[in-house]
Amino acid sequence: NDTVFTFGGNAPHTNARQKDKTVTGGKGANLAEMASIGLPVPPGFTIATEECLKYLAEGGDFSDRLRADVAEALAHIERTVGKGFGDASDPLLVSVRSGAAVSMPGMMDTVLNLGLNDETVKGLASASGDERFAWDSYRRFVQMYSDVVLGLDHGLFEEALEIAKEDAGYYADTEMTADDWKSLVAEYMRIVDEEHDAPFPQDPTEQLWGAIRAVFDSWDSERAKVYRRLNDIPHDMGTAVNVQAMVFGNMGDTSATGVAFTRDPSTGERAYYGEWLVNAQGEDVVAGIRTPQYLTKAAREAAGAKPLSMEEAMPEAYAELARLFDLLERHYRDMQDIEFTVQQGKLWLLQTRNGKRTAKAALKLAVDMVGEGLIDEKTAILRVDPMALDQLLHPTLDPNAPRDVLTTGLPASPGAASGKIVLDADTAEVWANRGEKVILVRVETSPEDIHGMHAATGILTARGGMTSHAAVVARGMGRPCVSGASQVAIAREGRMLTIGNRELKEGDTITIDGANGQVMAGEVATIEPELAGDFGVLMEWADRHRRMRVRTNAETETECRMARQFGAEGIGLCRTEHMFFDADRISLVRQMILAENEAGRRAALDQLLPEQRADFVKIFEVMAGLPCTIRLLDPPLHEFLPHGDAEFEELARATGKSVDQLRRRAGELHEFNPMLGHRGCRLGITYPEIYEMQARAIFEAACEVAKASGEAPVPEIMIPLVATKRELELLKDVVDRAAKSVFAASGCTVDYLVGTMIELPRAALMAGEIAEVGEFFSFGTNDLTQTTLGVSRDDAGRFLTTYVDKGIFARDPFVSLDVEGVGQLVELAAERGRATREGLKLGICGEHGGDPASIAFCEETGLDYVSASPYRVPIARLAAAQASL
Ligand code: PEP
Ligand code: MG
Repeated sequence: NDTVFTFGGNAPHTNARQKDKTVTGGKGANLAEMASIGLPVPPGFTIATEECLKYLAEGGDFSDRLRADVAEALAHIERTVGKGFGDASDPLLVSVRSGAAVSMPGMMDTVLNLGLNDETVKGLASASGDERFAWDSYRRFVQMYSDVVLGLDHGLFEEALEIAKEDAGYYADTEMTADDWKSLVAEYMRIVDEEHDAPFPQDPTEQLWGAIRAVFDSWDSERAKVYRRLNDIPHDMGTAVNVQAMVFGNMGDTSATGVAFTRDPSTGERAYYGEWLVNAQGEDVVAGIRTPQYLTKAAREAAGAKPLSMEEAMPEAYAELARLFDLLERHYRDMQDIEFTVQQGKLWLLQTRNGKRTAKAALKLAVDMVGEGLIDEKTAILRVDPMALDQLLHPTLDPNAPRDVLTTGLPASPGAASGKIVLDADTAEVWANRGEKVILVRVETSPEDIHGMHAATGILTARGGMTSHAAVVARGMGRPCVSGASQVAIAREGRMLTIGNRELKEGDTITIDGANGQVMAGEVATIEPELAGDFGVLMEWADRHRRMRVRTNAETETECRMARQFGAEGIGLCRTEHMFFDADRISLVRQMILAENEAGRRAALDQLLPEQRADFVKIFEVMAGLPCTIRLLDPPLHEFLPHGDAEFEELARATGKSVDQLRRRAGELHEFNPMLGHRGCRLGITYPEIYEMQARAIFEAACEVAKASGEAPVPEIMIPLVATKRELELLKDVVDRAAKSVFAASGCTVDYLVGTMIELPRAALMAGEIAEVGEFFSFGTNDLTQTTLGVSRDDAGRFLTTYVDKGIFARDPFVSLDVEGVGQLVELAAERGRATREGLKLGICGEHGGDPASIAFCEETGLDYVSASPYRVPIARLAAAQASL
């Protein structure tokens, strides 16, 4: 297979491999494409990504074959521009740039002006007739090469330039003369001699291979790895290298360089958008050394800026650029992000790619382009990254506001929030009740913190991964959350915390950004979400094209309302235990748990019944007529136990028992491994009266709502953590008896189903038998992942990042379903279940129900619906549509 591809000039016609981004990278593929449609692209060649992978895996020297192919490709450039690489009279200079299949802006390395040395610089000066330009290019090259290839501190070079300017009394780089640059180059060479064990390489071929090596190495740089991790980009793709004839934006006042978008990437407005600089090279625009100027007159005037726009200063080059913008947009049928250079009046394109955009812009572009006839509805649906919708549904930080970042944790639940630090749930509630905005900061959260999480505007934890309790609950509530911020250390006694070397105390204000995991000191300004028209339009298109239904994981009236507003078509998981924590009933729940016998439990359950019923009435009212899957009690009982002395004393007063008695009983409930302990249906098997009460509450509420509104809800009662058919049989019987008794007493009947969660490997394997009893299955992929991998979902945070970095998992399996492994169990259970019971209703209610890649798997597997937390419902609608297309 070829691994070196030429483009530009009379390079042979590009083949499919060259236009394949996985082979030549995004930049290489687009350069070939642009050249092939006749756009002004400097000639060059691309070395394929597989050479990068080979180099990184094997190390050592490059093969003779590769060296020969590169030499031949270099000759193509020489022929096309009519200059020789290393020619002392009129040298060819090249740029060497990275370019992976997925764009990673600024993450990897670039070297410009390569091919200059003490001899060729003179040739460049005489051939161009511009000595200043030649020496400016040389000093740029030495600095960049020393930084990128030799690994020297670029600060040393910047400092030398600053000193040179200061000594000469200059303000701007543009004041430097040819002689000034010449002396600076001498100074740079001195720095290299001092800091590096060899002199600056003078041989252009050696320079070229050094740069190629550096670009390959930069794929494995720390910042590139972090970027890939944050953006779910696999580590095994490698980068291509693009070597291209230099064109110069620094050849005086008829030359310039810039970057531009064909539309506004933050709003999606149809207006050219960009920055440019006269007499400069690309890195000047990006590096912020000089303040770039506006591209269009309108933008300049709107900003009240003085320096002329490109439209005004270089009208001809600008008109040509605008023509190419339109041509490129029509060709790629998408907004383009372009790098260009004007060399003595002639425009060159150095790069084009589909421009990165905000969620808002993505929606507007998709909807507008359908209107303009550029793309069809299906393409528009595929254009918008479902995860980006998150940005639209939560308040977000003002991108222009300054940030004092204290640390970065995991982006566990999106949205941004500012508030005062509080260190426990009760304080959070008290402060919130007096109207304060608070951020609940905990080492980790547990179910008893729910009221505090609810009261808080945001949650920060030191421990726990993306499916830790804090993360799951926060997403469900729509609270921004940063979890696993391991630098956060809490000293409860002093009500203090430290983050790195910064000390903070309860009451200090911080801001968290759940979209990127940042934790910042003070308040950072936010902007409110707006569900603009484009959002509605795209969602409508998505709904027309999807097969699967989208439900929500919700347990309060507010969450249900929110979810319906976001388009939920039912409840896929109502975790009833969350209702047990409310202040008005936790004491009853504790009395129930600590009762010594069934009679004692029943006495407490009788009092809980009306409370649960009232909860369900509210939910059924909001979900009018839609299916509602309600799960009976799941977590181990000890999670509800009192903790401090005060709580035990209160309970002693309520029950008439002694604190000692209660403590002893609480001790009996201790479990070594509660997640595999007395929880789920095992509670229902040992204490059927608990499930009986819950079933009763559900049916009584359903009948009440059916009578009052005429719209009967369809309860789907779900038994958690089932491993065997017999468990389900026994518990279905408890539910059926409760139904019978309620229907008889109330004279009302509602349809209902009894089904089970599939969240244990045995349940998946025995699905055929379980489906003889179960009337529906819902895949609880949180527990199914935990039990299949043998990885605790609450402790995984400590090592999963390393696992992802080392490529053991492509993504966190608690976030994106392990399709290969856990996925097999889902497929197998679906198949076996449906073989027993034709048309068995199948859904997923683990966190994966809101993850686009997992949703695509659910579509393939033929599930009937996915269920996601309210804020993820729109994401799931769009992802389900994309999966159907
Ligand atoms: C699951 O295990 O996937 C599930 C939805 O239940 P929970 O997260 O409440 O354990
Ligand atoms: Mg579960």
